[in-house]
Amino acid sequence: MHPHLHRRILNTVFAEHFSTAELRVMAWANMLQDRPRNQIGRGYIHFDDSLFAEAEAYIAAERARVFTALSQGRRRAALRAFGRLLHTRQDFYSHSTWLHDWGATVPDLATQPADAVPLCLDSRNYPNLISGNGGLVWFVLWRLPLFGRWIKANYPPAPDTHEVLNLDGPERGPLFAFSYNAALRHTVVEWELVQDAFLVER
Ligand SMILES: [Zn+2]
Repeated sequence: MHPHLHRRILNTVFAEHFSTAELRVMAWANMLQDRPRNQIGRGYIHFDDSLFAEAEAYIAAERARVFTALSQGRRRAALRAFGRLLHTRQDFYSHSTWLHDWGATVPDLATQPADAVPLCLDSRNYPNLISGNGGLVWFVLWRLPLFGRWIKANYPPAPDTHEVLNLDGPERGPLFAFSYNAALRHTVVEWELVQDAFLVER
């Protein structure tokens, strides 16, 4: 999902729970997940490459860091770990086939309420789920000035690539709004898992 949309979800959900400064710490850690170093060989950070078990394990490990940091009075470290895990959780809905599979069962998307998509509480439970392969080199090639369009026409992305599957922003069509809404609702679920620790620590 595009960075400003991650940020928008955090602002929407956490404005009432964290100060502006704390929100900034969390949002920065969230958006840093998309830095180049995390785009190669670390698909689990973005729920890419069908690395569902790895992504769920990563989220659990970062959540454990939240609790450890708060128990040690390291609130900033906790905010950063929480921001990181939320990035991964939010990316699930825009990078996997969860939304596409749901969309295929719905006759008319336009009549569906924004929260019609069920949350996926544990992606390991759905063996048919896949998520897009990264392919950073192709991503760059398809966007080259002058030649990019030609390259894409002659070497089109495979159906299981991030290029084809992603719902990273509204330009990706009507499923995006449902994907965004699910990411927002799952952010609330993640908050409910850690909120007592954040509140006790304060
Ligand atoms: Zn990402």
